[in-house]
Amino acid sequence: MQEQTTTIECESCNKSNRVPLARLKDKPKCGECGALLPLGGGPITITDDNFDTVVSTSPVPVVVDFWAPWCGPCRMIGPVLEQIAGEKPFDVLVAKLNVDENPRTAARFQVRSIPMLVAFHDGEALDSQVGALPPASMRTWVDRVINRARAA
Ligand SMILES: [Zn+2]
Repeated sequence: MQEQTTTIECESCNKSNRVPLARLKDKPKCGECGALLPLGGGPITITDDNFDTVVSTSPVPVVVDFWAPWCGPCRMIGPVLEQIAGEKPFDVLVAKLNVDENPRTAARFQVRSIPMLVAFHDGEALDSQVGALPPASMRTWVDRVINRARAA
């Protein structure tokens, strides 16, 4: 079986680093400049096929945004989540899952109303939030998730 890898861009020198998923929890460093690689950030797109791999191999908590293109409130919180992801590339990974295209995962987490955010740490659901929050409350929620994951 071929080793699964992911590509992470260094924050210091912008070099793309290919990192085996199995090594993510060893605090991988940039091959070019030696800086610690940011293991969060995003948003990335996840699917039924890679959902389990992403949430269980991520060394930082993963906030999954269950959304759909037709959902107005989803479009409102999308840019806020993107901003939070950009501010905290070492602390949290934001992942978006389109519920129409990925019904298996949506059914598994009983997503009936979107937007729905579920935070995962080491593959376990840590917290969830249904409905759009104002930006300040969303930041507070994400910070709480990060702190709970650190304490776990
Ligand atoms: Zn670098």
